[in-house]
Amino acid sequence: MARRRSQASPALWLVNLVLAGLLLGVLNHYFGFGNYLAGALHFGSGKDYSEVACADGTTVSSSLRQRNSPDQHNPYFNPGNGYRILACDVPDGTGDQRNSPPVGSLISGDLLAMVRAAADDDIIITWGQGLRTYEEQQYFYDCFQSQDCNYGNSAAEPGKSAHELGTAIDVYNCDWGSRVRQWLDENAANFNFRPLNKNSGDEPWHWTSTRL
Ligand SMILES: [Zn+2]
Repeated sequence: MARRRSQASPALWLVNLVLAGLLLGVLNHYFGFGNYLAGALHFGSGKDYSEVACADGTTVSSSLRQRNSPDQHNPYFNPGNGYRILACDVPDGTGDQRNSPPVGSLISGDLLAMVRAAADDDIIITWGQGLRTYEEQQYFYDCFQSQDCNYGNSAAEPGKSAHELGTAIDVYNCDWGSRVRQWLDENAANFNFRPLNKNSGDEPWHWTSTRL
């Protein structure tokens, strides 16, 4: 009995592994968490992306203009993830360089192209969050923990948010079923952006670049 079990176990484990792999694949297809796992592996690896120039039509930010982040310099070094990022001002759907917060240079060209393509379809894209400093992420994380500020919205631990990589934006007027959300669902992938959630759930406004 014991010998039979010891012979069968490796095969069973193999079957279980294959089934688990299939399940993960299916879950990833619907929820897209694979990119987050891959992204999480990058955190702390300390890459320097500040040599990447702000794309044509965008400009180097004079400051990060973020809450709870006094005297932050650009390029910005984030002590939480070890990345150095160049912040760029990107004209949003209003055409103004200064209305929406800066993003990392790595996505500045993609974002500008997406904003312009949306405008051609009469969709105005603006965003309330872009590149975040470590301190600002701490603020949002504390709000999430206490539920006392920022509407208690979920937020990653400092050092672990795509916003701190400058590769995520929180788009205004992007609730489920909105025109903006619908347009992004149909077009954002063409500009290397993917949603946090595909059909329902938290943060319909959160879009992340697939470049990092
Ligand atoms: Zn976000």
